[in-house]
Amino acid sequence: MATVITYSPAVTLVPTYECFNACTYCNFRVAPGTGSWLSLDQARHRLAHLRRHHSDVTEILLLSGEVHPRSPRRAQWVEHLYQLAKLAWDWGFWPHTNCGPLSEPEMRRLQTVNVSMGLMLEQLRADLAVHRQAPSKDPALRLAQLEQAGRLGIPFTTGLLLGIGETPSDWAMTLQAIADSHRRWGHIQEVILQPYRQGTRQMTALPDFPLTQMPAVVALAREILPDDITLQVPPNLITHPNVLLDCLAAGARDLGGIGPQDEVNPDYPYPSLATLTDLLSRHGYCLQPRLPIYPKWLHSARIWPRSQPAAVPNPPNLV
Ligand code: SF4
Repeated sequence: MATVITYSPAVTLVPTYECFNACTYCNFRVAPGTGSWLSLDQARHRLAHLRRHHSDVTEILLLSGEVHPRSPRRAQWVEHLYQLAKLAWDWGFWPHTNCGPLSEPEMRRLQTVNVSMGLMLEQLRADLAVHRQAPSKDPALRLAQLEQAGRLGIPFTTGLLLGIGETPSDWAMTLQAIADSHRRWGHIQEVILQPYRQGTRQMTALPDFPLTQMPAVVALAREILPDDITLQVPPNLITHPNVLLDCLAAGARDLGGIGPQDEVNPDYPYPSLATLTDLLSRHGYCLQPRLPIYPKWLHSARIWPRSQPAAVPNPPNLV
């Protein structure tokens, strides 16, 4: 029987590209005060278009640059994230927000309109040159976010960014910290293993993470993480089909959100679903869509958003 590999049919909305951090590898951000915010009307227009013309889309990923915790605009930004997620929910999509570290009241508020949330741990070391101008990439702060999400019962996605100045022993340390948090709270749905790939907008070009090392990283993650955490690899960044297949053989079981554009890596278009389906089916795998909340949590009243969508989208073939 074919092994199931999942993906989430997703479209990303970016509330703002403005970000007070300045990670040197970033291909996403603009400086605070130089960008704009996605208005509710713009978002409504896009969601209406999606609802009419792309009935396969289930997840709305709200991926935002960060407003400084002490900025006078912080409260307005969090409220805007809430309104955008609620709008997506009201249009019958499943919102998942990834917007950087949040205070507990902020996370509690966004929890009510998201089916899951996410934050990359990246690497658990505080001395990476790429993060010198990125205060919110403090690993202790990010680890505390995993704990906070666990306490609040939020199904959570996290992951490692590979090739940003860490050593292989850092991978094990970071994976172990995720495993420990999950054993305490049982809330980590999936761990993304994301190779750094050069883009055209970053401040400093690091060398690409060697893709041939990906299967070994997947195997290490499978060894360290509990079995109920799914390993995710991005098919647009793993540009060699054989490496992608080797990652699946090593234990990766999910390809993440697949949609029109990877906003974080805009230079790397997603392969088409037809291409992926064909590749996987020729090697004993079956590609299936899933929701941004995994089945284990789907019927848990504890995490279910309080406001129900106007039309619950639940295509029967979703994993
Ligand atoms: S990687 Fe994320 S946190 Fe870092 S500058 Fe870019 S948007 Fe901001």
